[in-house]
Order: sequence, then structure tokens, then C-alpha cells
Amino acid sequence: MNEWLARFSLRAKLIGLFVAIKVIPLLLLAWFAWTAARDLGQSVTDGAESMADAMRDTQQRTARTAIDDSIAALDDRSREAIETLTTNTARVVARFLYDRDKDVLRAASLPTQSDEYRRFITTHVREFEGHGPYRPTADGRAWEPSEQITRAPTQVRAPLPDNATNFHYREPEITGRMRTRPLFLEITFIGLDGKEQLKAVADTATDLLTTELRDVSRREHTFLRAETYWRELQALKPGEIHVSDVVGEQVRTDWIGPYTPEVAARKGQAFAPEHSGYAGLENPVGKRFRGLIRWATPVERDGQIIGYVTLALDHAHLMAFTDSLRPTPERRSTIADPASGNYAFMWDHLGRSISHPRDYFIAGHDALTGERPAPWLDTELYAQWEQSGLPWEAFAADIPPYRDQRISREPHPESTATGLVALDCRYLNFSPQCSGWNDLTAHGGSGSFVIVFSGLQKLTTAAAIPYYTGRFGNSPRGFGFITIGANVEDFHRAATASAERIGAMTAESDGIMALQRDSLMSEIRTSLQRTAAGLSLSTALMIVAVVLIAIWMANLLSSRITRVVAGIRRFREGDLAHRLDVRGHDEMAQLAQSFNQMADAVQASFTRLDEARKTAEQANRMKSEFIAGMSHELRTPLNGIIGFADLLSIELRDDEQRSHAELIRDSGHQLLERLNDVLDLATIEAGRLEMRPEHIDFCELLRSVISLHAMSAAAKGLSLHAELPQQCSIKADPLRLRQVVNNLLSNAIKFTPSGDVWLTLENTPDWITLSIRDSGIGIPPGDLESIFEPFQRTENFLTRTQSGTGLGLSLAKKVVRLMGGRIEASSEEGVGSCFRTILPARASLNTDQETA
Ligand code: ADP
Repeated sequence: MNEWLARFSLRAKLIGLFVAIKVIPLLLLAWFAWTAARDLGQSVTDGAESMADAMRDTQQRTARTAIDDSIAALDDRSREAIETLTTNTARVVARFLYDRDKDVLRAASLPTQSDEYRRFITTHVREFEGHGPYRPTADGRAWEPSEQITRAPTQVRAPLPDNATNFHYREPEITGRMRTRPLFLEITFIGLDGKEQLKAVADTATDLLTTELRDVSRREHTFLRAETYWRELQALKPGEIHVSDVVGEQVRTDWIGPYTPEVAARKGQAFAPEHSGYAGLENPVGKRFRGLIRWATPVERDGQIIGYVTLALDHAHLMAFTDSLRPTPERRSTIADPASGNYAFMWDHLGRSISHPRDYFIAGHDALTGERPAPWLDTELYAQWEQSGLPWEAFAADIPPYRDQRISREPHPESTATGLVALDCRYLNFSPQCSGWNDLTAHGGSGSFVIVFSGLQKLTTAAAIPYYTGRFGNSPRGFGFITIGANVEDFHRAATASAERIGAMTAESDGIMALQRDSLMSEIRTSLQRTAAGLSLSTALMIVAVVLIAIWMANLLSSRITRVVAGIRRFREGDLAHRLDVRGHDEMAQLAQSFNQMADAVQASFTRLDEARKTAEQANRMKSEFIAGMSHELRTPLNGIIGFADLLSIELRDDEQRSHAELIRDSGHQLLERLNDVLDLATIEAGRLEMRPEHIDFCELLRSVISLHAMSAAAKGLSLHAELPQQCSIKADPLRLRQVVNNLLSNAIKFTPSGDVWLTLENTPDWITLSIRDSGIGIPPGDLESIFEPFQRTENFLTRTQSGTGLGLSLAKKVVRLMGGRIEASSEEGVGSCFRTILPARASLNTDQETA
């Protein structure tokens, strides 16, 4: 790391540092700002979305709850209203029946005279609101009245302001033709023997009843051979009343459901509605059920029962209570519409239909036998009955009523095909509502339930008819019960419509909300993009500014350092007088000042050193001159001593004296040699050595030197080898050259205890190289330089084994240098040394006197 950093200049480092310090926080700041903005945008978007979702959810739940509540409320109210209508109708029917009780009691008090009876029939009438003739519509799909009864709408004056709120007017409810119709089909007086004695038949019943007087104690003489009242009458006490079941011929039908030309054509049947059963708007021209209910009471005269009076109530009056009733805002109609499902029916105390918009459903009798034919049966019960082979009534006596009734059962097709489809709730096992009605009214109560029938939710109500005369006193249900069916959907149509409207509104507001949410999100996106762009731009600008400032500051700081460095370099390169600029008082100024002070000190010591060096050189020169002078002075007497010692050695006869003289002479020679060396060195150092160059044969010179040393080499047992060319011309001072070769060769022999010494001469046009190599003791690597210094020897004076002064190499080096050449030494301890003398071929005396 440090090394890596060291590669950069201070300026680059400073710039990097400034940029890092400023730019990284800037980038972090920008990044934080950006993520914060982005997160905010995201959370606003999420919040808006979940808020919209929550609002929509709340809206939908509120709407759903409101609609469900209003549906429930409307259903409740409608249920209540229809239940009320049902119980009211049941009560009205009961009152109507009670009124007939009064009629029969009054009839019992009538004189048994024909005109009295006739008057009774003609005066006991009731308004009967029937419908007129109907005909198929032009398209053959429905029925319409043949004559339209149009009423001009009533002109009702505008309500008073106080009454104006929800002022609601209804036209009179009589919509059909009102006619009076005798209440009773006949009045009879029966003697105690069971024979009719007096009878008045209403005009409306002449086709139904006979005016003949008959013995009604015999059933075949009764209406439709079906009446059995004589047995009951005999048990009556005065004032007691007998009321019969509904007696009428079962209307056979070959058609169930709407009977129109269009349907007949579709089924490929002849259109003969008048032969089928009447069914309100489904078939307004069909065969009507015609029946009666007989009231009877004893006739008492003077405390004695003298006979019985009977009144046959026209069943049509009873049927009018339910046929005209509609459980809809219409309330009443002259004709029932069984297809709508909104209609009322009436059942007797055993659960047999006694009033139905479809007359063929009313339970009647077989006119031939007076028996009740089998009612409409489901597959299971019908098959069972068929299998039994019994007449229906005998078979039914053993069948439990209301057996496992459920919607999933089907009517037996054969049962339907007979055209005898009376509804007897006890055995109508594919209509579970029968069980429901039975449960509601069995104890005289009332109520309702909802049942899904033909895919429609139907509310059905039931209310017992509280009429308890005669044998009905034993039945908690009374005379029978009223049921009303109504489509539940009709009750809450308004709520369903509001639900649809609310749905549409919710969808619309959903759309608006989605648009708003989209636009909010796109705004957030745009704002985020703008923020990002702004942040990037400002960050980039700031980075540029920071980099520029960094460069400027780095320059400011580093330029002063660079100046200091440049100043120091100049000083180092010798400009000792150079000083740094000192500006200001900061650390850089102090550094410059310190440097200047140091430079002052260094310069002063340099000056002092120079002076000392000059003094030393002067002293050295003086020393050399002294030594040169001294040597010369010494040489003269020494030569005298040597000469005389030589003379003495020749002249003296005494051996001892002569050897003493020879010792003096030899010592003198040695001393002279040393002296010469010292003199030479001093001469050279004093710059006074004079060269006398001349053309010589270097080889010859070498050979003569070799021959001088041959003896000493041989004495040591050394082999001396010389590889020399024939001739080698050189211009050099022969004395000095000989001195150099002499020194080098004598050293080689001196420091080689055994082995060889080689001399080789290489000759090039410019350079002549003399190599003297030995296999001697060698020179330690650290000494290779210093041996050329005067008085330097590898051995110290305590250990030295060889004689010498340490001046030889120093002199040789200086002489060769004066000749314009050089000496190079190489050596390996214990192996040997090699000294190479390299000389210019034409060496001339170098007049530059070197002192080194
Ligand atoms: P001297 O021979 O008088 O001592 P020199 O100046 O001739 O002085 O040599 C200096 C020293 O260099 C010698 O003392 C010796 O230690 C070393 N020297 C010179 N030549 C050789 C050689 N050929 N082999 C080993 N040592 C040498």
C-alpha cells in the first residue's frame, strides 16, 4: 500500500485526498437523498393505492350492507304485509262463513213455504266481481278481455300543502263488472224421513241441481252422489249447524299451464281451451269448477224437530276471496294470474284445495261415482297406488299424510295424463310447501317461509281460517287455511335496482379513482425523475467544483514544496549560495528558513574544509619537497658509503672484514633502493617527475627484466612463463617502464610461494596490455583498491612475512598514469592475482603533473 502510494506525486495524492474527502460524502448524500425520495414516492404510491382500495372496499361494503339491509327490511315488511293480508283474508272468510251460520238459522225459522224459500234465495245475494269474456290476443301468445272496460281517471284535486308529502291516491278497486249473485244454489227442507219436502233452486244453478224432491238419505240422490249429510243431520240438536266439505265435480284438464293458440300450435294440439280446465289468465275460457258447501240445521216447531233446512252455498263466492286477491301493489284483480306466482289459494281443513286460480287443481268428485278421484301424485306414490289396485280413497286411508315431501320429487306423467290433477296437500309429495303450510296452520296459527320453486325465490304464507262451527270445532285449524304465494324478488325490486345503480356508480367511481391513481403515480414518477436529474446535475457540478478546488489547493500546497525541493536540488548540485524564498510564517516558511540556516552552516563548513584541504595540500607539497631534497642529500653520502664499502670488499684481505664491508655495501644498496622509491614518490607527488620517452622495444625490455628475476624465481622453485611477441614497439620512458614491470614481477614472485608466474603481452594498434599473473596467495577483495595507496600492505607489520615498503604499487600506478595508461588488479585469495598494465602504444609524457 505504502509502496503503491509512493508512486504518486504529492500533488496527485493531495488531489486524491481532497476529492475523496469531498466527493464520497457528496455521492453518499446524493444517494441518500435519492433513496429517500424514491422510498417516499413508493410509500405515497402504495398509500394512495391501499387508500383507494380501502375506500372502494368500504364503498362496496357500505353499498352491499345497505342493499342487504334494505332487501332484508323490504322482505321483512313485505312478509309482514303479506302475512297480514293472509290472516286478514282468513278472518274475512271466517266471518263470511259465520254469516252463513246466521243465514241457515234464519232459514230454519222460515215458514216451510215455497214462496218463502224462493224469496230467501232471491234476497240472499252478494256482489260478485267476475270477469267478462276473454279472447286470445292477436299474436296468440296471451289472452285479453273481449270488451275493455275503460274508466276515466278520477280528477282528484291537488292536496293541501300540509298533506302534499307523499300524497298518494288510488283509483277505486272495482275493476270488473259488479253483479249480484245468489249466495246459495238452493234451499231445501228435508223431512224427518230424509225426503226433501220443499226446495228452491237459484236460477244460476238450474243446470247443476235438480228441482225434483228427492230422498237425500240415499247418497245417489245427492249432489254428484257425493253428499252424505243425512247421517250428520240426524245427530243435530236444535240450533246446531252442520257444514259440509266443498262438493263439486273435479274439473278434468288436458292442459297444465298457459293455454294459448301459440302454445297449442307449438305442441301440435288443437286449440280447444274451453274443454280444458279454467286457469285464470292462463285459460280464462276453460271449464269452471262448480261446487257447493251445504249448511244444515234442524227446524224446530213447538220444541219438536220437524225436519231440516239446508242451504247450498255457491262455492264461487268462497273462491272470489282468493281469486281476486293479488299480493302485489295491484292488490286486487277480477282474474288471477297463476303464471306470475303472485296468487292466493284456499285449502280445506284436511289440506285439499278448495280454491285455486287453476280450477282443475281444486279437489272435487267424480260425478259418476261420487267418489273423490286420485289427486295429482308423484312417481313413487302413484306407482304404489297403481300397484295396490285399490280405489283411491280406500288406498289413501292407509297412507301416512305428508310423507317425505321434497322438491326433488316429480309428478308421475301418468298421473298428469289422467287430467285429474286435484291438489291434496297430504299426498302432494313433490310440493314440500304443503308440509310447511300444515306445520304453520295445524294449530290454528299462521306464518310464512321462503321456498325456491321453479328457480324463483317464493315467499309463501299460510293462515288458518278461524271458523269453528259444527265439526270444524274439533279442528284446531278451523275451516281450512289460506295460502298466498309471492315472488320475493318483487318485494325488493327497488333495492335490487338501487344495487344495480350503486354497482354502476361504484364502477364509475372505480374508474375515476383508477384514473386519479394513475395520474398520481405518473406525477410521482415525473417528480422522481426530476429529483434524480436535479440531484445528478448538482452532484456532478459539485464534484467538478470540488475537483477544481482540489487541484488548485494541491497546486498551492505542492508548488511551495516543489520550490523547496528544487532549491534543495540546486544546493545539492553545488550551488551552495542558493537560498529558499521565505514567505509567510507557516510550516513551509519555517521549513525554508530551517533549510536556509542549514545551508548557511553547510556552506560555512565547506569553506572551512576547503581552506583546510588547501593547507593540507600545501603541507604535503612541502613535505614532498623536503623528502625529495632530503633523499637527494642522503643519496650522495649513501653512494659514497656504497662505493667505499665496495672498494673495501675488493681490497680487504681479511675475510671477516671483507664480509663486513660487503654487508655495508648490500645494506647501502637496499637503503638506496628504498630511498629511490621514497624519492620517486615524493618527486611524483611534488609533480616533478620528468619522463623521457623514447621508442623502445617493450619485448626486449621485458626479457631483460625477466632474466633479472629468473634466478630468484628459480630459487623459490617457481616456473616463470612469458608469452611475448617478437617485437613490441612503444614510446615510453624505458627507466620508468622497467621500474613498473620490475615492481609487478617482483611482487608476483614474492607473493607466490609455489607454482607459476605468467607474463603475457597483447598488442593492438592503440593499446599494449601487459598481464602478470601468478598462482600465489592472492589479495582479499577488500584490499584490491587500497594496495595502490602508498604504504598499504595486506599484511600488517606484525604478521608480515615478506619484505617491502608498500610503495611499489603506488609508484607503478602513478607512473603508468603519467604515461597515459592504467593498472587493473584482480585476485582470488589462495588462487592467485593478476595485474594488467594497459598503455597507449605511443605513450608520451603527460605534462599534466598529477598528484593523485
Ligand atoms: P611491497 O611489495 O614493498 O610491500 P608494494 O607496493 O609493491 O609494496 O605492494 C604492496 C602490497 O601489495 C604488498 O605488501 C602485498 O601485500 C601486496 N601485493 C603486491 N603484489 C602482490 C602479488 N602479486 N600477490 C600478492 N600480494 C601482492
